[in-house]
Amino acid sequence: MLRANLAFLHFVHIGKGKKKALMVDEFAFDNTEERRKNRLNGTGWHEVIVGSMFSGKSEELIRRLNRARIARQKVQVFKPIIDSRYSVQEIASHSGQKHDSKPISTAAEIMSEIAADTQVVGIDEGQFFDPEIVVVANELANRGMRVIVAGLDQDYTGTPFGPMPHLLSIAEFITKIHAICVKCGQTANYTQRTVESDALVEVGASDKYEARCRKCFVPHADSPTLHP
Ligand code: ADP
Ligand code: ZN
Repeated sequence: MLRANLAFLHFVHIGKGKKKALMVDEFAFDNTEERRKNRLNGTGWHEVIVGSMFSGKSEELIRRLNRARIARQKVQVFKPIIDSRYSVQEIASHSGQKHDSKPISTAAEIMSEIAADTQVVGIDEGQFFDPEIVVVANELANRGMRVIVAGLDQDYTGTPFGPMPHLLSIAEFITKIHAICVKCGQTANYTQRTVESDALVEVGASDKYEARCRKCFVPHADSPTLHP
């Protein structure tokens, strides 16, 4: 029982007295038992973190990547160049947490950038990738890597966003998280656009978007919520 709540390192000898850390068990909330079975089978797997803007996807991705690095696993992180909100060489959360990442233009670039000994692959803003991201995620997991993709599951109209529905279909593990509706304080499942634009991609943060619940969301631009 205790085991399910602790992270354990597993090492294999890779010659000349060197050891390499294997995958680490996570908290029970992360489907520990299933992951452990996968690890022991020698395969990788695919995790997806979804929700609206401000739901904490980047925070959760950064948390998982930090834990992997503490476990001395080799981690590589990618993000699409389109997201230039904060810093190009990093993924960043709205609360200021950061993690190094490599900006790339296409999913295929991940395959040319990936190192053979990488154990964990993090991908942020998955919704902005081309459809090949699905093939890439599968291929990396088949090679034995843990692939973690974070992304918006719906666009500003409430429509499934880009390749995310496909990534959700092929993933072993899915985590859906929620923000707080800025209008009423309920669970927010939607990203409300607050500036007039019909573009699918309108890069911005709280200057252009806010989190809203089902009742307060409208599937087009709406005035920002004013707080007294
Ligand atoms: P995401 O990647 O899903 O857009 P982030 O991880 O970047 O989310 O940011 C999550 C953080 O955003 C929260 O921890 C909180 O500090 C902040 N935040 C701002 N507005 C909200 C909101 N309406 N609901 C919840 N968190 C919010
Ligand atoms: Zn609401």
